[in-house]
Amino acid sequence: TRVDVALGARGYPILIGPGLRARVGTLIREALPKARRAFVVTDTRVAALYQNDLTTGLERADVAWTLHAVPAGEASKSFAHLEALLEAMLGFGIERGTPVIALGGGVVGDLAGFAAAVALRGVPLVQIPTTLLSQVDSSVGGKTAINSRHGKNLIGAFHQPQLVLADTETLNTLPRRELLAGYAETAKYGLIGDAPFWDWLEAHGAALLDGDPALRAEAIAISCRAKAAVVAADEREAGQRALLNLGHTFGHALEAETGYGPDLLHGEGVSIGMVMAFDLSHRLGLCAGPDVERVRRHFEAVGLPVRPDPSRAWNIDRLLAHMAKDKKVEDGRVTFVVADGIGHAHVKRDVPMETVRNTLAAVVG
Ligand code: NAD
Ligand code: ZN
Repeated sequence: TRVDVALGARGYPILIGPGLRARVGTLIREALPKARRAFVVTDTRVAALYQNDLTTGLERADVAWTLHAVPAGEASKSFAHLEALLEAMLGFGIERGTPVIALGGGVVGDLAGFAAAVALRGVPLVQIPTTLLSQVDSSVGGKTAINSRHGKNLIGAFHQPQLVLADTETLNTLPRRELLAGYAETAKYGLIGDAPFWDWLEAHGAALLDGDPALRAEAIAISCRAKAAVVAADEREAGQRALLNLGHTFGHALEAETGYGPDLLHGEGVSIGMVMAFDLSHRLGLCAGPDVERVRRHFEAVGLPVRPDPSRAWNIDRLLAHMAKDKKVEDGRVTFVVADGIGHAHVKRDVPMETVRNTLAAVVG
């Protein structure tokens, strides 16, 4: 399957299907005819699983390569790892046309993408996302970043890839919990603007998560089409792209409280956050109660969290403070992504913080 991101001269294809990692050499030679060398960035876990398939494919197409592996995990999106990576790239002698290949999840994609954006003021980037989250979200759209001690993703750049290869086979080795976290972002596209896709997920989500390759490929393609459309309409997030943040304001607050650690994965925070966003929308008189229940019930049914860990003492004021830092609060009011129903999200100004507090209190209070 092929999905195109329509950004004129900066447009690119997303290829989705089994076995793409081994065809990377040929596909890169098609997309970047002059590339004879490539710099591969991955993490140690993904390297152990897929490095050989990839590098064999590069050699078959006569592309010389070197590989740089960072430790698996969010901590690799740091200045220290960026510095080591950039020095390795320059040591390899990358030139303006040498592609950087990001093989891994969102961590590798964000770090390698940012390095590709700033090395020589920009070298080509090829994304080979290997988690469901990165295949449906982070590998598409050109956002790249590392973290600061002041917060996540605060240092970054827009740098669109030249090619995205979503090899559906790589999901077979992904732990179930990571798969579910990516599923939350997939479901997000249904909740934002595609009610039939949400219906489809209610019918097929469980089978998809249990491994059905055709269902997985279809869900990834639908998600990439949705993200590509938003990105093409609003590359730099001046308007419509903000809808992709459905559930993220709540989710980020929960993530911040758990230290962005293994207690709560990003997608898990987004799952809880989307339930909260629907609850908030209901409180604002925008969406019907049964819609809130549908969202909650489906996420619960597939095994996603729908409320924060009750064994933990959550402080509502601190959660609200995180959200206020994330958003501009004026006169006790805030701008939020809300929904009139499943498939009908929009940005709403002037949401009273008091109603946001009520949603939090109903779930964690
Ligand atoms: P990740 O990259 O940390 O991957 C999760 C874990 O799965 C890691 O331990 C990794 O080694 C392992 N893994 C990856 N592929 C595997 C495979 N095929 N088989 C087995 N194990 C595998 O996490 P993620 O969820 O992919 O990405 C999260 C990151 O993405 C965050 O840093 C977030 O900020 C970023 N993000 C960026 C954007 C964007 O638009 N740029 C959007 C959403 C999220
Ligand atoms: Zn997200």
